[in-house]
Amino acid sequence: MKKKLIAGNWKMNGTLAANEALVQALLAGAAGNDCQVSVCVPAPYLAQVQQLLAGSGIDLGAQDVSQHEAGAFTGEVSAQMLRDFGVRYCLVGHSERRQYHGESDAVVAIKAQRALAAGITPVVCVGETLAERESGLTEEVVKRQLAVVIHTNGHGISEIVVAYEPVWAIGTGKTASAEQAQQVHAVLRNQLRAATPQADKMHILYGGSMNAANAAQLLAQADIDGGLVGGAALKSADFLAIIAAAQ
Ligand code: PEP
Repeated sequence: MKKKLIAGNWKMNGTLAANEALVQALLAGAAGNDCQVSVCVPAPYLAQVQQLLAGSGIDLGAQDVSQHEAGAFTGEVSAQMLRDFGVRYCLVGHSERRQYHGESDAVVAIKAQRALAAGITPVVCVGETLAERESGLTEEVVKRQLAVVIHTNGHGISEIVVAYEPVWAIGTGKTASAEQAQQVHAVLRNQLRAATPQADKMHILYGGSMNAANAAQLLAQADIDGGLVGGAALKSADFLAIIAAAQ
C-alpha cells in the first residue's frame, strides 16, 4: 500500500539553533512512524540539515531549483548542487514563487525536468487563487498548470509528486474542506491517469493551512496521499501530530 507523504515547507524561516532543535524533536517524535516524511529547508541550511538527518528516515527537501543547468546565473542553485547535499525532494512552482517571482507554467515545467534529471523528485505545486475559484475556474487552472508539466516531462511524469495548494488557503488559516480538496485531487488523478499507467501509485499532496486539527479528515480522502505543510511544520508538536494523523 502507498504510504502517505508529509512534507514540511519551512519557507524563509530558521536559524542554525532553531533548526537543530526542530530536527532533533522530529527525530525523537517521528521514530517508528509509518509514513514518508520530508523537510524542505532554505538552501543555506541544506548542509546542516543533511547532517542532522543522516541515517534517519526523514528525507531532505529543497524549496526551489534553477531552471538552468549551470553557469552565469547569479544567486541561483542548480539541481546538481541540491543533489550534492542529498536532496530527495524539491518544491517547484510554489504559489509564492509564481506570485512574487513571476514563475510561469513553462518555467515550472522546466524546473521539474531539471530536478528529475538530477535524480530529485519535484513536488509540483498547483492551485487556484480565490478569484479563480469564485469564477468557477478551479479545475481549468490546475489542469492547465499540470498539463504543461506533463507535456514537458513525458514518461518522467510518473516520478513527480503533485501538491494541490489552493492559493487562498496558504498561510491564511482557511483550509479547503475535505470534500473541496478531494474533488480537485480526483481531477488531477484523472489527468495523471491519462498521462501514465503509474498514476495511482503517485502522490498527490494537499497543502493550505493543514494542521493538527484538520489533517486526519483531509488525509482520509481517497485521492489525498499526504500533505505539504507550511506554518505547522515549524512547530514540532504540530508537525508530529500531522505525521501521526497520516498513519
Ligand atoms: C505552504 O507553504 O506550502 C503551505 C501550505 O503553507 P501553510 O501550511 O502555512 O498554509
